[in-house]
Amino acid sequence: MSLTLSDPSLLREAACVGGTWIAAEGRDATEVRNPSTGALIGKMPELTQAEVTAAIEAAEAAQKAWAARTALERADILMEWFRLMMANQEDLGRILTAEQGKPLAEAKGEIAYGASFIRWFAEEARRMYGEIIPGHQPDKRLLVMRQPIGVVAAITPWNFPNAMITRKAGPALAAGCAMVLKPAEQTPFSAVALAILAERAGIPAGLFSVVTGDGPTVGKVMTDSPVVRKLTFTGSTEVGAILYAQCAPTIKKLGLELGGNAPFIVFDDADVDAAVEGAVIAKFRNNGQTCVCANRIYVQSGVYDAFAEKLAAKIATLKTGDGFEDGVTFGPLIDEDGLAKVEDHVADAKAKGAKVILGGARHERGGTFYQPTILTDVTSDMKVTTEETFGPVAPLFRFESEAEVIKAANDTEFGLASYIYASDMARIFRVSEALEYGMVGVNTGLVSTTEAPFGGVKSSGLGREGSRHGLDDFTELKYVCLGGI
Ligand code: ADP
Repeated sequence: MSLTLSDPSLLREAACVGGTWIAAEGRDATEVRNPSTGALIGKMPELTQAEVTAAIEAAEAAQKAWAARTALERADILMEWFRLMMANQEDLGRILTAEQGKPLAEAKGEIAYGASFIRWFAEEARRMYGEIIPGHQPDKRLLVMRQPIGVVAAITPWNFPNAMITRKAGPALAAGCAMVLKPAEQTPFSAVALAILAERAGIPAGLFSVVTGDGPTVGKVMTDSPVVRKLTFTGSTEVGAILYAQCAPTIKKLGLELGGNAPFIVFDDADVDAAVEGAVIAKFRNNGQTCVCANRIYVQSGVYDAFAEKLAAKIATLKTGDGFEDGVTFGPLIDEDGLAKVEDHVADAKAKGAKVILGGARHERGGTFYQPTILTDVTSDMKVTTEETFGPVAPLFRFESEAEVIKAANDTEFGLASYIYASDMARIFRVSEALEYGMVGVNTGLVSTTEAPFGGVKSSGLGREGSRHGLDDFTELKYVCLGGI
C-alpha cells in the first residue's frame, strides 16, 4: 500500500462485525482501487450471509443497554467520536481521496462536514423531548415519549464515503439505536476508519458494525431480518425502489435519499458573476458526482450569452488531475460506467444540436478523467434533460418567462435540490414556492449543512437527514394513557 498516513492503522483490510474484525486475507475479497491511478489500495472481505446476520444480532444485543444510558452519556461518547474524526482529519481525508478521487482539500472538507453531523446529533440527543397532552377525560393524562426505533441498517454510496455515513450514524446512535452499515464497495476504507475511531471513542461493540460485500446479498439479509426496524439508504432511485419493496413484508421504516435532477435557474435580474460562482459549486463539486448537483442550467435570454461566456472562462482556469496534486479542482470519474454515461450524454446532446463551448471529450490524462464541459443551445429532448449525468457537464438551456421555466424545472420525476438566482424578492418567493423540490438554494450554490433538513420529494426519496428532524426518523412515538387520576 503506497498511501502515506500518520496513523497507518486507520487503513484496515477488515470488516467489523459486532466488535470482531474479519480480515480480507485468506478469503473471498473485493479489490479497492484508486480511480485516479488504478493502483490497488487494499481488499475488503465479502462477508457471508451468516456474518451479516451476526452483525444484526450483535446490534440487537448492544442496543438496549445503549438506549438505557442517559442522553448525556451517549452525547459524551459521540462528542469523543467527533473529536477523533477531526484529530485524524488529514488521514481520513487521504483515505477518502485515495479511494474516491476527489481533491484532498475537498476530501478534508467532507471529513469536517461529516464530523459535524456527529457533533450536531450529540447535542440533539439531549433534546429528544416528549409531550404531555391535556386529557380527553378528567381522570386522564396523555403522555408521549420518543423512543429509539431499535436496530437500523444503512447502505451508503461512494460519492461521499464519510458524510453519508455520519449523517445516518449520528442521529441513530444519538437516539439510542444500533447500526449495521454496508458502505459502497468502491469506498469501504473510509467507513472502516470511522469504525476504528468509534471503537477508540468508546462506542460499545456491536453498536456500529461495518459489513462489506456484494450489495444485493448483504441488502437482502438486512431487509429480510425482522430485527432490523429501519433501513436508511442513500443511492440510486433504482436500488431505492428495490429496497423499498424488499422492506414491505417486515413493514420497516424507511429513509431514502435517492437521485436528483436539479434545475439551476438564472433570471435576468440575477447578479451574473454570483450566479457563475454558484454554478461552479452546484454543478462541478465532486466533479459533478453529487445528487444535489445542478443537472440542468436554465438561463433567461437577457443574460444567457454573458453567463455562458463567464462560466466557460471561469471553468477554463480550473485544473483537472489527481486528488493528491496541488491546485487540482476536478478529480476523475469514479469508474468506467460513470465515464460511459457522461460520454453518452454529451454525444446525444451534440447529435441533437447542442454546441460544445468548453471540453466535450475525455481528458488527456486518460483513465476515467473527463474534461469539464459546457454545452449551449440545449433542448428538452436531450438525455441531459431527463437523466442525472453525474459528471462535469453543464448544459445551458435558454428561457424567456418565469412560468415557462417553472414548468420545465418541475417536469421531472425527481425533486431533491433546486437553485435560483434572482434579486426581486417577490419572484424569489413565488419561484421557491412553485418548485416541487425538497430544497431550494436562493443566490447560493451550496445548501447542505448539518443544521438544515436534507431530502427530496417524488422519486428523490423519503424522510429528512440533518437538522432536528433528522433525529425524528430514528425514533418512534409511544403514547401512554394515564388513567385513574
Ligand atoms: P451508484 O449508482 O451511485 O453506485 P447504487 O444505488 O447502485 O448507486 O449503490 C448505492 C449503494 O447501494 C452501494 O452501497 C451499493 O453496494 C448498494 N446496492 C446496490 N444494489 C443493491 C441491492 N440490490 N441491494 C442492496 N444494496 C445495493
